[in-house]
Amino acid sequence: MGVLALQGDVEEHVAAMRRALGRRGEVVVVKRAEQLGELRALVIPGGESTTIGLLMQKYGIDRAILEAELSIFGTCAGAVLLAEVIEGYEEQFSLRLMDMAVARNAFGRQRESFEAELSIPVLGEKPFPGVFIRAPVITRVWGRAEVLAEHEGRVVLARQGRYLACSFHPELTGDRRLHRYFLEEVVE
Ligand code: GLN
Repeated sequence: MGVLALQGDVEEHVAAMRRALGRRGEVVVVKRAEQLGELRALVIPGGESTTIGLLMQKYGIDRAILEAELSIFGTCAGAVLLAEVIEGYEEQFSLRLMDMAVARNAFGRQRESFEAELSIPVLGEKPFPGVFIRAPVITRVWGRAEVLAEHEGRVVLARQGRYLACSFHPELTGDRRLHRYFLEEVVE
């Protein structure tokens, strides 16, 4: 299990993943392409998707990710980097691994950051604390992608096989259920 450490909220994901994994495995802080060959799964954290994308390309990490056929959990900026289409930013780099379109910073200025209780059926009945920070929205899914949660009618969590993408920041809460869901249900 690795956390991509090019930019963004890396530390929080490493800590969250360590707690979710327990003694089942190690969390590797990934800074170089060579590290990816040994992993089965990777978190792409929130941050600035343009910056993370540029650094991925600069260090050949984009190719290494695709070659390693990893399971991937993309949160916030990480979700943007998994999308086939980034609306309004068609030139921006993306891994294009999920059949979905996203719109960046889609909740508008009034609501740059907010918290909301999310209903996520795959995690059980208890609401999940969603922390949204200049969050993207998943505007469309097609093909093999499926919607796992919405907030006020807008898609904020989607899965496609071994890929999981969310608009919010699960690493910034004490609730480890989404990290555990990734490890137990999504990772191949
Ligand atoms: N809006 C940012 C982007 O598109 C993502 C924000 C975040 O990851 N908190 O890169």
